[in-house]
Amino acid sequence: MTAFRHSLHYLDVKKGPLPRSKAAFERARQVIPGGVNSPVRAYRAVGGHPPFIASGKGATVVDLDGNRYLDYVLSWGPLILGHAPKPVVDAVRAAAGKGTSYGAPTAAEVEMAEFLRSAFPSMQKIRLVSSGTEAAMSAIRAARGFTGRDDILKFEGCYHGHSDGLLVKAGSGLATFGEPSSAGVPADVARHTLVLPYNNLEAVRSLVKERGTSIAAVILEPVAGNMGVVPPAPGYLDGLREITKAAGIVLIFDEVISGFRLCWGGAQTVYGVEPDLTCLGKIIGGGLPVGAYGGRREIMEKISPDGPVYQAGTLSGNPLAVAAGLAQLKTLKANRSIYKRIAALAERLEKAFRGVTVNRVGSMLTPFFGPGPVTDWDSAAKADASKFAAFHQGMRERGVLLPPSQWEAMFTSAAHTDKDIERTIRVMREVGVA
Ligand code: PLP
Repeated sequence: MTAFRHSLHYLDVKKGPLPRSKAAFERARQVIPGGVNSPVRAYRAVGGHPPFIASGKGATVVDLDGNRYLDYVLSWGPLILGHAPKPVVDAVRAAAGKGTSYGAPTAAEVEMAEFLRSAFPSMQKIRLVSSGTEAAMSAIRAARGFTGRDDILKFEGCYHGHSDGLLVKAGSGLATFGEPSSAGVPADVARHTLVLPYNNLEAVRSLVKERGTSIAAVILEPVAGNMGVVPPAPGYLDGLREITKAAGIVLIFDEVISGFRLCWGGAQTVYGVEPDLTCLGKIIGGGLPVGAYGGRREIMEKISPDGPVYQAGTLSGNPLAVAAGLAQLKTLKANRSIYKRIAALAERLEKAFRGVTVNRVGSMLTPFFGPGPVTDWDSAAKADASKFAAFHQGMRERGVLLPPSQWEAMFTSAAHTDKDIERTIRVMREVGVA
């Protein structure tokens, strides 16, 4: 295991202003909307401007001003071995020397698909894509093509990427028809997305009773990570499985975060519930752009060129992404004790927090600055974003980088050491949350 750790030299001083990051951000804002290529990176929820990252190694990243941070963002989850682990870097280097993209099939893609299926047996056939957004969007198209139905059901607080039909929030009043949650999404598209609260089986039961024959798919994060961490209530996933099966609805688990992070085989293995389709993402690319969707043979055989559901991608199965992903997954497979260890590290953090509500599943955790229990979006939304912002800033100034929003997950990695956790807890005490 020591191969993945990195010896750390922290700056114990309070971080001052970040002049180089600030200048880079100002320059970025002239040419990139909000100065960032993904909105949450702009730090609007926590104030100030983001540190621009120059490099990462092990559990740490270094910003343009030379400050080193202990990192619990980990590229929003995928870096389960930490930054720049040797097996992944070596694999990318070797692959790059042989060409970066061919637009033709490779043996490594087949190996990756077989590998994914060995960990997720419910994924009988698998397509590689380039992002989690594409995986969820394509899984839904497959479900619609398979069932011949148009509507889908999603849950408040779950995020499945930024395709039109998934940028939808619950309608006002008692309506279950969704409304666009972004400008640019046609209401005509949003009305095919029904939205219900997470962890409420009765709501699903009554909706399916009323209009189940129009619903192609139910999609959810089996462990939610995008409203902060929210685990499924006991029996929730089993209940969804039972209801969808009886109504001929395709059950899609979006395991873009949970897959390979919670255990070998993801949330579906932890909770023992088999979906019809599964979406995987970033973690199977070891930090390179990748995604995958797959599941029951008869659904996946609807995909072009075998069937009538079109889905394609110039960079799908890209050789660098596949090489990085296979290297990360093989390392994980050979060191499965990692899961126990990173969960234990996260548990130490969980237990150290005082005065907040902490939700944790394995190595994913969120401190909610509000009352518990947090079981769905309504209860998560009670958290005080300004208290979180102050906490985030205090941690950042002391060299600990957290996701810059109250409603995200922190992650531990195989590169984090007990000493890192002790240091983090010391900083948590300094900012008054431990
Ligand atoms: N699904 C889930 C559960 C996610 O957390 C995310 C992104 O964080 C996505 C889908 C979208 O993935 P991507 O950002 O790679 O498009």
